[in-house]
Amino acid sequence: MSDESALLEQLEFDPDELRARYRAERDRRIRPDGSKQYHRATGEFGYYVEDPHADPAFTREPLHDTVEALVIGGGFGGLLAAARLRQAGLRDIRVVEKASDFGGTWYWNRYPGIHCDIESYVYLPLLEEVGFVPSWKYSPGEEIRQHARAIGRTFDLYGQACFQTEVTGLTWDDDACEWEVATDRGDLVRARYVVISSGPFSRPKLPGIPGIEDFRGHTFHTSRWDYDYTGGGPDGGLHRLADKRVALIGTGATAIQVVPHLGRDAGHLSVFQRTPSLVDVRDNRPTDPEWAASLPPGWHRRRRDNFLTLVTGGQAEEDLVADRWTSSARFLQDLIPNGAGREQGLAAEIADFRKMNEIRARVDEIVADPATAEALKPWYRYMCKRPTFSDTYLQTFNRPTVSLVDTGGRGVERITANALVVDGVEHEVDCIVFATGFEVGSSLFDRTAMRIAGRGGTTLLEHWQRGPRTLHGFYSHGFPNLFHLGAMQNASSVNFVHVLDEQAVHVGEVVAEAEKRQAARVEPSAEAEQRWVARIDAQDTSAQHAFHAECTPSYYNNEGAPTGRSFQYAGGPVEFYDLVARWRAEGGMDEVLA
Ligand code: NDP
Repeated sequence: MSDESALLEQLEFDPDELRARYRAERDRRIRPDGSKQYHRATGEFGYYVEDPHADPAFTREPLHDTVEALVIGGGFGGLLAAARLRQAGLRDIRVVEKASDFGGTWYWNRYPGIHCDIESYVYLPLLEEVGFVPSWKYSPGEEIRQHARAIGRTFDLYGQACFQTEVTGLTWDDDACEWEVATDRGDLVRARYVVISSGPFSRPKLPGIPGIEDFRGHTFHTSRWDYDYTGGGPDGGLHRLADKRVALIGTGATAIQVVPHLGRDAGHLSVFQRTPSLVDVRDNRPTDPEWAASLPPGWHRRRRDNFLTLVTGGQAEEDLVADRWTSSARFLQDLIPNGAGREQGLAAEIADFRKMNEIRARVDEIVADPATAEALKPWYRYMCKRPTFSDTYLQTFNRPTVSLVDTGGRGVERITANALVVDGVEHEVDCIVFATGFEVGSSLFDRTAMRIAGRGGTTLLEHWQRGPRTLHGFYSHGFPNLFHLGAMQNASSVNFVHVLDEQAVHVGEVVAEAEKRQAARVEPSAEAEQRWVARIDAQDTSAQHAFHAECTPSYYNNEGAPTGRSFQYAGGPVEFYDLVARWRAEGGMDEVLA
């Protein structure tokens, strides 16, 4: 008997049946308008992105000065870049941020229940540098936001930062070897180095539901939570909703954290579901102070590396984090099948079916009403969507004041002045909360209004007209001293802040070397850039493509239309950062410093 038939013999389920169910569920969610189905939060929807935390009357005089480095974005990416540049010896570092403080995602997202979905001891960056150990295994959002602010203080970034400011243009001055940076507040700042870290989750999106603009009740997006309307705060206590009928649209990672609070406090909560999330055990607990006090120097890097290795299919003697991320990765061998040439064979698929059966069985164990339980079961493979973790989400559907309105994969049909329509039935509500996510697939040029003109006036948009062109994702030919942080032509991980730190360390080391050699420019040659682009284009991404093609639509697979092209290094982050470290050690700097 072959290994495959032996494997199939022992199964307690029929894989063909599951495959057919997954396909049917995917097919009824595929829409011809794909990622174009969403509304951008601009124009008539612009109020959805207004900043509830900033002073709208804030003004200041325009700046006309020079700094050594200017960092665009004050989330963890920008903070890490600034911190690593400080460690590289730069004195004048200005972070420009459109919010009124540091924090990025954690500045904007303050919805009730907000928590880190990765263990905080590996998610929060610069813990040893700041001298902080998070108080919970999965920190509440406010603790993470305060940590971002602490990084700002520790690395002395507040003094020169510009908040409530957006960069509108970057122009390279080849004679002075500096960038001229223009902003929407009339600033003209000159900087030797510029780092762009504008973040993939910075623009909320709204669902393309007909009639969305007709609604006359109250409405907001989870990333701009309206506590004036709901009462309470990120820890809950939404007392002003006691007499309100609330609709929540969306059931992704955000909704999973919000629903237990809305369910507890709203007069009535209706959760409008298009696709159920996969909800695994959370098991959050406070940090043991003795453990925190016993951590030896270097613990943070060791723990983060250990997590990264395990969730990307690598081997480690110990599992330091030991949660559902790492146990699932061990079980499934590799969370995201993006390793070049790594086959997604039958064994991996069977392990996935088993894991998802366990997830579906958990729904039956928790949810009392059988029809509601059935509707809450996810029918797709693990990592088709970001897995979620909660010990209170599914339980909320047992409350008499909470209803699940399952739309059978089609989404809400229509919105009227006072109701949401599904299958012709009107559900009247006072308030709609949109937990419908962010413009993840959009490019830097869609997300920002920034015009970047490099040497000779060529814009970055022109240089990238047939796709991004960089060396290692960091820099482009013709755009000296300009660094990009992000996954593009670089690497990614479920713990993205760790990836951002690896990137910031690289940028810091390159800049330190440029300073040491008194190099005026950091810039890859056209040939080095072309070699990297060709290498990214030539990667074997067939396993990843095959996986995503079978998945239910989401931003992971371009809403059901995977392109088959990878914009990331397919070998995964561990291999990539090894490659970059070797590049630095083996004379790579000579390629970019002049
Ligand atoms: P998502 O994009 O994950 O979810 C959007 C939700 O809106 C989906 O359930 C989607 O359904 C639904 N939706 C879209 N259009 C419609 C429609 N027309 N009718 C009904 N429903 C609709 O956004 P999130 O904000 O939940 O999460 C975004 C990302 O933010 C996560 O993937 C995660 O990376 C990150 N995050 C991280 C957290 C952390 O703790 N670190 C916490 C929360 C989020 P469908 O699935 O069918 O498309």
